[in-house]
Amino acid sequence: MHGNSPTDSDSMASDSITLTEEEMARYSRQISIPEFGKAGQEKLKNARAAVAGAGGLGSAVAIYLAAAGIGYIKIIDDDVVELSNLNRQILYSESDIGRDKAHSAEKKLRAINPNIEIAGINKRITEKNAVGLLKDVDAVVDCLDNFETRYVINDAAIEIGIPLFHGACMEMGGQVMTVMPKRTACLKCIFPNPPPHKKTPILGAVAGTIGTIQATEVIKFFVGMESLLTNKLLIYDSRFFSYDIIELERNEKCPSCGVI
Ligand SMILES: [Zn+2]
Repeated sequence: MHGNSPTDSDSMASDSITLTEEEMARYSRQISIPEFGKAGQEKLKNARAAVAGAGGLGSAVAIYLAAAGIGYIKIIDDDVVELSNLNRQILYSESDIGRDKAHSAEKKLRAINPNIEIAGINKRITEKNAVGLLKDVDAVVDCLDNFETRYVINDAAIEIGIPLFHGACMEMGGQVMTVMPKRTACLKCIFPNPPPHKKTPILGAVAGTIGTIQATEVIKFFVGMESLLTNKLLIYDSRFFSYDIIELERNEKCPSCGVI
């Protein structure tokens, strides 16, 4: 995957949307990354991603995906903005308190990048609606705060066949893992039982760290870079500034992605 010569860019452009002069300028500092190039940026422009959960993780993910020029971003959340969200949910301002997150996020992201399409969906993700909500995207980013709903999007991503980019944070640490359905370990393979759901303390900057790792992972995937956090769990602890990467394996008998 080093096909970023002008010839490759031109051949990519023929069957995809080309970049405007304004877009070339807006994204110039990332287009010049060797692995990106104009062809990589065009891939981002054609990419469609859903951000499930517009809280602390979702704020960082959505802002960086929008800024990077992901062509279509769907933000799904059914909460309203509360004062206690503002230590970490940087998509929102004090004037958004009491408003629904999906549409507040949509407005903020449109202000950041008017060149892309953004859809704020004010809905709770359920087993009944998950596939319908995710079938028009190429990737789903898990920015949720509970494992029950994580399992729902995990299973929907497997059914549709799109990658899932998992992230979670608690207190001063968090974790990231990427799932390529039926090829690499899914959430159920690794976390067969949900941890108890409770409101945990979270340092906003740490939600930002985990969210930006997820966003980087999504961008790398869309550009076509291969060294992703698949079959790997990245664990970050800001108390010691330690990163660990644990190697994982798919569970052949996994109730969500297993062969049986
Ligand atoms: Zn599995």
